[in-house]
Amino acid sequence: MSKPIVAVVGRPNVGKSTFFNKIVGRRVSIVEDTPGVTRDRIIAEAEWASKFFMLIDTGGIEPASTETIPAQMRAQAEVAMDMADVIIFMVDAKEGLTHADRDVADILRRKNKDVVLVANKVDGRRLPDDFYDLYELGLGEPFAVSAANQTGLGDVLEEVFSKINWEEHEHDSDEDKVKIAIIGKPNVGKSSIVNALLGEERVIVSDIAGTTRDSIDTPFEKDGTLYILIDTAGIRRRSKIYDDIEKFSVVRAVAAIERCDVALFVIDATEGLTEQDKKIAGIAHEAGKGIVIVVNKWDLVAKETNTMRDMTRKITGELQFMSYAPIVFTSAVKGTRLPQLIDTAYSVSENRAMRVSTGQLNSLIQDAMLMQSPPSDKGRRLKIYYAAQIGVKPPLFSFQVNDRELMHFSYARYLENKIRDAYGFVGTSIKFVFREKGESSQL
Ligand code: GDP
Ligand code: GDP
Repeated sequence: MSKPIVAVVGRPNVGKSTFFNKIVGRRVSIVEDTPGVTRDRIIAEAEWASKFFMLIDTGGIEPASTETIPAQMRAQAEVAMDMADVIIFMVDAKEGLTHADRDVADILRRKNKDVVLVANKVDGRRLPDDFYDLYELGLGEPFAVSAANQTGLGDVLEEVFSKINWEEHEHDSDEDKVKIAIIGKPNVGKSSIVNALLGEERVIVSDIAGTTRDSIDTPFEKDGTLYILIDTAGIRRRSKIYDDIEKFSVVRAVAAIERCDVALFVIDATEGLTEQDKKIAGIAHEAGKGIVIVVNKWDLVAKETNTMRDMTRKITGELQFMSYAPIVFTSAVKGTRLPQLIDTAYSVSENRAMRVSTGQLNSLIQDAMLMQSPPSDKGRRLKIYYAAQIGVKPPLFSFQVNDRELMHFSYARYLENKIRDAYGFVGTSIKFVFREKGESSQL
């Protein structure tokens, strides 16, 4: 299952981020904050009327500051068109239509995309006199809303939802295939890896505009397993305009991560980890996807006896939150360890779907508690009555406890290590929920 993507496009100051925050702010989330990873509020998971989707505020994606506003908007509209299922085009009803609005409307109209036109800042009951001018944009009926007062938002989302093909998102026709996304910042070698893995032909085959939204998907087979490679780099070849927009590569990664089972997170061996790398890694981790760290351009590194070990330590130290991820050192140019990359991704996808029997798990937890007693606070000690794995992809464990407050972070980490020692779960995060007696074990 993948979540649909909805993008909000419009001139600066029309109220995009206000709208974004009102919608995203209400979500209930079990996602943790990853230490050391700053969060961009450009794309977020949102929920409305029990439906989940990803919302992008394109206002956060700013091309070089020398660009004029219309050029910026054009770039943002292109981003939206490439990635979104539905676009919300927002205008300021107080100000009325501007040239820039009309330009963007022209771009949107020409593409075969579903657009919902929203006129924001209609704070009172009365529509502004020039409201009906909005029909001139040729984008259908405008929805009058006030993002600030949260009026009309439900109607907009209902309209958006009516344009989404939920079937397609809920029943993934590629369920039987292992979906591998290649993520990482520009120039680390993502395309080179894809091309080396698949051969040059596919570049021509897959370059049909509009076949994919945010990336180029290529199916292939290896040792009897079917895979889909989601190549986020391919899009750059189509649209030069946002080539240099750093934030965009993060947004693009989010969209690809959302659809994958395993992310090949590529970094440049000659550069080490950058902030942008960490941000992208943090997103894959939080999404609970399988992760393989790919240290590419390994041919350019001068090697001594312990170079690989030292590099492994350095990366693990900097990405402590995903110390479970295997690391593969590759050279796309020389072809070093590329087949191993796919085999590693395969075993990670198996690990992500692994189930531990309740009996085995409970005896493991009992033993762990004997070896190191659970923490206590003010004379009260944590008790774990029962544990069960209640989900896969990623593995999700539920613990029934006497008092959730007593479950200290370090003890949860200890239990995680015990589970990993016994079962591995290499390459996948594992998640815990703690329930007190009487609470349902449902999420
Ligand atoms: P963005 O640049 O499109 O993301 O716009 P912002 O969300 O930052 O909003 C720009 C300004 O419009 C801010 O001062 C907001 O408080 C204001 N604003 C946003 N929504 C509304 C609204 O529904 N009514 C009114 N009156 N002001 C709004
Ligand atoms: P992308 O932006 O992540 O898709 O990166 P590209 O695949 O376009 O690669 C960026 C540059 O790095 C190109 O000049 C590649 O030839 C080069 N490159 C990619 N992989 C390797 C590698 O393993 N070794 C060396 N020496 N160069 C590489």
